[in-house]
Amino acid sequence: MKSGFVTIVGKPNAGKSTLTNALVDAKVAIVSSKAGTTRNNIRGIYTDENCQIIFIDTPGLSNSKDLLQTRMNKLALSELEGVDVIYFIVDVTSPFTKQDETNIERLKQTKGHKFLLLNKIDKLNKEQLLNVVVQWSNRIDFDEVIPISALKNDNLQELIKTTLNYLPEGDYMYDPSLKTDSSSAFQLSEVIREKILFYTQQEVPHDCAVIVDAIQKKGNSYEVNATIVVSKDSQKAILIGKNGSMLKRIGTSARKDIQYMLQKPLYLDLYVRVEKNWRDNPNKLYQLGYKDIDL
Ligand code: GDP
Ligand code: MG
Repeated sequence: MKSGFVTIVGKPNAGKSTLTNALVDAKVAIVSSKAGTTRNNIRGIYTDENCQIIFIDTPGLSNSKDLLQTRMNKLALSELEGVDVIYFIVDVTSPFTKQDETNIERLKQTKGHKFLLLNKIDKLNKEQLLNVVVQWSNRIDFDEVIPISALKNDNLQELIKTTLNYLPEGDYMYDPSLKTDSSSAFQLSEVIREKILFYTQQEVPHDCAVIVDAIQKKGNSYEVNATIVVSKDSQKAILIGKNGSMLKRIGTSARKDIQYMLQKPLYLDLYVRVEKNWRDNPNKLYQLGYKDIDL
């Protein structure tokens, strides 16, 4: 039996979280079309009778414009050592940029086996894909180059099979029925943030954070209290909407998903609070769960 760790890194929007969810066949990480969706390292656990693979989904590596992004980059890079395999994932439709160069330089310094995953191949024809493969393969010496579509589940079984060749013999590290080790409070807060990402635009998704203040069991149902933190008064107004319509839309949509997760009726109470420039404030980042780490 084989078991081991695989870290998934790449630029924002490359499809890291979509891939993590597809590999473990469960929604362990939220996904959106907006960059900067994932802010924590999230473990997705794949188990079958022959193996267990812990996939570590990470925040997208990107220019540090504020303290939160700096911390997110550090967090992603902190999972490059001590793992068996690193998936470096790229969006085949996105042009090669300076950020890719930086990421590749960083990757060269790591010891683990490196796979280049060319994602979103559903968007290209064969000829275009061949060009991308040639362009990318020479950049560093990858152990494997694998084209995939995380969204369409294309070539993922092959990916798991190939990954097993690089994993050591070992036992289950997590209970085989677990798909993630994230806390319930974290998972609930992420569902709420996903809805905000979906329903709002521009800097609102970027500037919002969600904290679950309380989860209480009341008879056969749950009561969840959560606070949405934003950077500016204008963002609070947008989030609440006319007569509370936006907050209601976010709440209803989040409630549906959470009820499905908990398999219990849910009362969800959302509150919006302004914390000026929290993305650059070390104390506020700490309170919101975006702690600094040592590398
Ligand atoms: P992350 O920032 O790297 O975690 O990227 P996400 O998983 O959040 O995905 C970013 C966007 O790309 C979302 O809109 C996904 O639906 C989309 N996406 C991810 N994988 C694929 C894929 O294989 N094909 C296509 N067409 N879209 C994808
Ligand atoms: Mg993500």
